[in-house]
Amino acid sequence: MVVISKKACRQPKGRNHNLPTANSKLFIFAAVFMKPIQEIYPLLEQPRKIAITTHQKPDADAMGSSLALRLFLEQLGHQVTVISPTNWAGWVNWMPGVKDVMDYEMNKQKAEAVLDEADWLFCLDFNIFHRTKTLTEKLKQLTCTKILIDHHQEPDTPSFDYGASDTSKSSTCEMIYDFIMGAGKGELINEDISECLYAGLVGDTGSFRFPSAHAGVHKIVADLKERGLKHPKVHDKLFDNFLENRLRFTGHVLLHRMEIFYEYNTALIAIPKSDLLKYYIKTGDTEGLVNYPQSIQGIKLVALVIDRDEERKWSFRSKGDFDCNTFARTYFEGGGHYNAAGGRSSDSLEDTVKKFKEVLKENAKLLQ
Ligand code: 5GP
Ligand code: MN
Repeated sequence: MVVISKKACRQPKGRNHNLPTANSKLFIFAAVFMKPIQEIYPLLEQPRKIAITTHQKPDADAMGSSLALRLFLEQLGHQVTVISPTNWAGWVNWMPGVKDVMDYEMNKQKAEAVLDEADWLFCLDFNIFHRTKTLTEKLKQLTCTKILIDHHQEPDTPSFDYGASDTSKSSTCEMIYDFIMGAGKGELINEDISECLYAGLVGDTGSFRFPSAHAGVHKIVADLKERGLKHPKVHDKLFDNFLENRLRFTGHVLLHRMEIFYEYNTALIAIPKSDLLKYYIKTGDTEGLVNYPQSIQGIKLVALVIDRDEERKWSFRSKGDFDCNTFARTYFEGGGHYNAAGGRSSDSLEDTVKKFKEVLKENAKLLQ
């Protein structure tokens, strides 16, 4: 990926800034390439201070990949801290090492000190800084080496020095597995790392049902099993680990908040704040809701919108050839993958739902 960017104008740390004029264009092009992740391998031998961050409200893939990478790098002698931009769901709170993850919003000063001291910053499961919400400005200011590992569309490559960005990968956890194996250090994948990686594979493939669950994913699972993975534990922690209120909330939402538009093969769930309060809904309790309407015959697009304090947060899921990433980018300031994306709106719940219904008409042909 060659992208001319603001970074081309910035003076790289520790380099000769007097560029030769004849070759300067060439140099600038070279300077803005995100170098391949493989070039990191020889640099892993020297112990460093490393920070790892991921997207806001980290899910199983975001938290799993961050913790797996940390547990791997620590075995190589690095000093590693995982910083989450925000809090996270209870159903990732069992992951090995999660207790030491810093919540940026809760510990701004400490987290910023860690970031200021870091030699390297790994950015996992997101590819543009604004996905980290209030952490965005801090990440932009950092001059340390930034390394991207991500599987979403349209990466902001000029923001990173090294990286792997591959939309054919099922999950960032798959990419962390590839990273460890590529470094020739598969023997360091212990039971804890295998649990973190497996959680991300399960989460991002919808328990191996999405098209992204290619043969390689199943081969990774087989390898993790041979390295000690106890997969029933992970399923139990991810899916059978809620309180009664969450199940009753799900029933309420499906009964009262779901609309089906058969002419557009679309289902919509719109959740007002009052429902969240009534059922004591916490971060992560709404995960998976968007999948339920997909069980209705013929449904091609499911949209879920939740009235959060600061914004209306959209989730989109599709089957087949409807591009959720483009839809989310075009109408709801978002993005993601082809069959799963998210977005946001500053409008009221009522207004953003109205807009959704209008844009459904524009997309009628694509939804047939
Ligand atoms: P979810 O609906 O589960 O929150 O997100 C589905 C996918 O879209 C995930 O891969 C997530 O990272 C991505 N995504 C969710 N919200 C946004 C957003 O506002 N912007 C972008 N670019 N991606 C998003
Ligand atoms: Mn992911």
